Amino acid sequence: MLIITCPYCGPREQSEFHYGGEAHIARPADPQALTDGQWAEFVFMRSNVKGVFAERWNHSSGCRKWFNALRDTSTDRFLAVYEMGAKPPQIDAPELRTPAGEPLIGSGNDETKVMTEAEMTEAEMTEDLGGGS
Ligand SMILES: [Zn+2]
Repeated sequence: MLIITCPYCGPREQSEFHYGGEAHIARPADPQALTDGQWAEFVFMRSNVKGVFAERWNHSSGCRKWFNALRDTSTDRFLAVYEMGAKPPQIDAPELRTPAGEPLIGSGNDETKVMTEAEMTEAEMTEDLGGGS
């Protein structure tokens, strides 16, 4: 059972909460000036990090208030919760984990969304070394 600490109510079961997506996404200051591509970027494109991620949560079966949280997506551990509108607290980022032993490159452990040719070659070499039958 995952326990989430609501900043207003305290620790509660995950079933009392609803996930609200990535935190700190600012609405466009001048929406009329955006191109369709810029709108698509604003509406659909979100980070997909493995590690510390700032996200919104709603205590829907409790106080019904929204709050932000920093969660380690590789372990599901909540590292901090803070009120909407507040800046994320400074935390020491935990070391990224690869529980399944997947290679660092291409596994989401890095912030690189598109691998360069050199990185792909390196990843293939790593797989060749780690694999075997
Ligand atoms: Zn609450």
